[in-house]
Amino acid sequence: MAKWHIDLHSPTRGLSFEVREHLYTETSPYQRIDIVDTADFGKVMLLDDVLMVTDRDEYVYHEMLSQPSLFTHPNPDRVLIIGGGDCGTLARVLLHKSVKQVIQVEIDEMVTRVAKSYFPQLTACLDDPRAELIFSDGIEYLRANHDGFDLILVDSTDPVGFAAGLFRRDFFADCHQALKSDGILCIQSESPWIPDLLELIAEVNRDLKSLFPIVAPYLAAIQTYQAGLWMFQMASKRYSPFSDDVFARLSKAELEFNYYNADIQRAAFALPQFVRAKITPTLT
Ligand code: SAM
Repeated sequence: MAKWHIDLHSPTRGLSFEVREHLYTETSPYQRIDIVDTADFGKVMLLDDVLMVTDRDEYVYHEMLSQPSLFTHPNPDRVLIIGGGDCGTLARVLLHKSVKQVIQVEIDEMVTRVAKSYFPQLTACLDDPRAELIFSDGIEYLRANHDGFDLILVDSTDPVGFAAGLFRRDFFADCHQALKSDGILCIQSESPWIPDLLELIAEVNRDLKSLFPIVAPYLAAIQTYQAGLWMFQMASKRYSPFSDDVFARLSKAELEFNYYNADIQRAAFALPQFVRAKITPTLT
């Protein structure tokens, strides 16, 4: 009989998919890590039973967390990633030749170790000498390091437990301080379809607006994440994601993506009215 995994998005709803084989399970000091092989999504990484990465559609989340900000900044040189232990975001940041150094601060070393075995297409980028891994709490790292980054990307788990602080104003204030005077912060910001999460999105949006002059929330369709629609929030000290320069850079870039392109850069920031009722972007 077929085995099914149910990725619960609330006590009463979730995504279910057929599991062909349970490949790996281990409990780290932080969370349980499972790898399952599925009919529709290839290998899938679950952290505490929540779907994180799939072979088939990881590119949507990783491209959309990284590329809109990488193209909005004219010269992203030093980049910090908080979380992101599977290295999918790191791989996409390293596609940019302007990037000279990427520091990734992941709390759970085991996530990266397991990703190396099951998602080598994501971790191959660790051979790149520009990549530096630190295994530590991202909140504590930013409290202590105000190093002058061009870009900070927050690739976190959901806002519970040790990840909850990554959605709070104190943390955003530390990010603001760690960015150069024209730096950009971009965070994954959960699904607006889930009422509690929409409230959180609104709170995060207010907090970011209290710190950054430009705050641009945007969306991507991610079939395996909660309710299929995912939000990100870009908070920028100077550059607008809509300037002509962004599109000039995009038309010159010799990079290939599976989801992201210039039309997505234009369209992803269009918000449905039920989201606009809760958050007002500050755009220039
Ligand atoms: N794409 C994913 C999603 O939204 O479902 C995120 C994947 S990535 C694996 C998230 C990572 O954030 C996890 O490996 C987790 O260990 C890490 N993380 C959570 N809280 C953290 C913290 N406070 N500092 C550093 N890393 C953290």
